[in-house]
Amino acid sequence: MKNNNIKSGNLYVVATPIGNYDDISKRALITLNKVNFILAEDTRKTGLLLKHFNIKKKLYSYHEYNEKQKAKNFLEKIKKGYNTALVSDSGTPLINDPGYRIIKLCRKKYINIKIIPIPGPCSAISALSVSGLPTNRFCYEGFLSYKKNKRIKRLQELKLEYRTIIIYESTHRLLKCLYDIKNILGKNRYIVIAKELTKKWENIHGNNVSNLIKWIKLDLNKIKGEIILIISGYKKLPKTNLELSPKVIKTLLDLNKELSLKKSINITANIYSIKRNFLYKFYIKNKY
Ligand code: SAM
Repeated sequence: MKNNNIKSGNLYVVATPIGNYDDISKRALITLNKVNFILAEDTRKTGLLLKHFNIKKKLYSYHEYNEKQKAKNFLEKIKKGYNTALVSDSGTPLINDPGYRIIKLCRKKYINIKIIPIPGPCSAISALSVSGLPTNRFCYEGFLSYKKNKRIKRLQELKLEYRTIIIYESTHRLLKCLYDIKNILGKNRYIVIAKELTKKWENIHGNNVSNLIKWIKLDLNKIKGEIILIISGYKKLPKTNLELSPKVIKTLLDLNKELSLKKSINITANIYSIKRNFLYKFYIKNKY
């Protein structure tokens, strides 16, 4: 049906299931049923979804390679009153999926078109929600580069990121990526790997990166399917760990054999970036 009451049609951004069709929302179904046409990342995949729900609708292909040239054409159509839904292959459109260009252009130049989100599944948020890692602050990184040097550079930038980090990874690069994480973020960095969420072979497993690599290598089938990594953020070593660090103690005591306590503390504090006052208290407490 063409919308005759208002000038422009609406652009609905509709989330679809990430594996299990039962996760589709009632509003998503109502919307897909009522729009004039659907912009789909892959018309074949969306066709299957529509068939499952017995929805017959005109589909247009809208993906990362034609986004640039097609965004304007579709917006012109919507402007004329055609209600339109934007969907991706799975989950929430624009989250590592096409759609950014059309929404950006719409907000900038087609201000009469109403953009309406129809919320639903998103693999990144689903994985985060079951990870057991802090969710009050997190950052989403999408896919790391398939080029090793770029991937390493990004991981180095993320080394001190204190928020929980969400990464998408493909099966065939997973081990390489985990080795890079181990080398750069450290072997103890805790990671939850969420595989095939909402599907038959769903598997959610957490461990430090070293153990995770060992666990995967025991059975490479574990990495088949769609995968998300939830990486725990950087944690400053608590002071108590510094207290126990034999390296720091040895430096302080060795220096103190030759130098005054004050000088020894100053030098040790500089080497290890520890507060002088803290080192002093530690020295007194342990009655060296
Ligand atoms: N827009 C989608 C969303 O909202 O979930 C994400 C699209 S992105 C191109 C595809 C990546 O998302 C996959 O390579 C995988 O890392 C992750 N992914 C999608 N579905 C998944 C699932 N069921 N289980 C685990 N990861 C999934």
